[in-house]
Amino acid sequence: MKRNPFIEPQKISFEGIITSIEPRATVWRYRMDNRTHREIGYNLFLNGIYAEIKNDFVLAITEAMQNKYRFRINDRISGNAWEKLHEEREFADFYKVSNIKILARCEQETRSGPPWTGEAPDLEVYSNRGARMLSTKRWKSKCRGCRWANMSNVTIEYNFNTGAKKYRFESFCYGPLDCPFYAMGPARSVPYYKKESSSDTGWMDDMCVEMRSIYFKEDYE
Ligand code: SF4
Repeated sequence: MKRNPFIEPQKISFEGIITSIEPRATVWRYRMDNRTHREIGYNLFLNGIYAEIKNDFVLAITEAMQNKYRFRINDRISGNAWEKLHEEREFADFYKVSNIKILARCEQETRSGPPWTGEAPDLEVYSNRGARMLSTKRWKSKCRGCRWANMSNVTIEYNFNTGAKKYRFESFCYGPLDCPFYAMGPARSVPYYKKESSSDTGWMDDMCVEMRSIYFKEDYE
């Protein structure tokens, strides 16, 4: 969903069915040797109606809200939310969700993945697992509904002297390292002012998931 930048963000009403629940995360990039992930909440993907428009849309919610309602895939919910302020910085369409009602509750999925569609774990679990780059094509197709899939809000430190930054969205996977659906996708270019762009070829993935052997004896599915 694209918001008209010339119109002030509006508070909307929504109703829809949850199709996916992913961690909401930010990633900070600086040239080729810094990629810092931070998990800050959850993104609920819905199919339904907002502001009388039928569509797919994404709600950014807090960890406290997910802990309170324990949202599940196929739950039907309604509420209010605000349109996002920054189109290029926030993947979710709406945030500041309030007045939540669960209109129809579904059984928790117990099917073993992939994709893993059971309950999304606490943010601490995501943080301890770490994430690998995930092909955006996979994120859109085979990984849909997987609790380990993620589309991060990425900030690139473009010029430290002026504070200039660039923004984009990137897909990642927090899932088992042997998942048969996994594909890294192409290397990711990281630009910097007046320098040749660096390329994240995936070598940082090993560092990002290296703490799993400490936190998890086996790769937790
Ligand atoms: S590759 Fe990752 S996100 Fe996709 S199904 Fe496997 S564990 Fe889930």
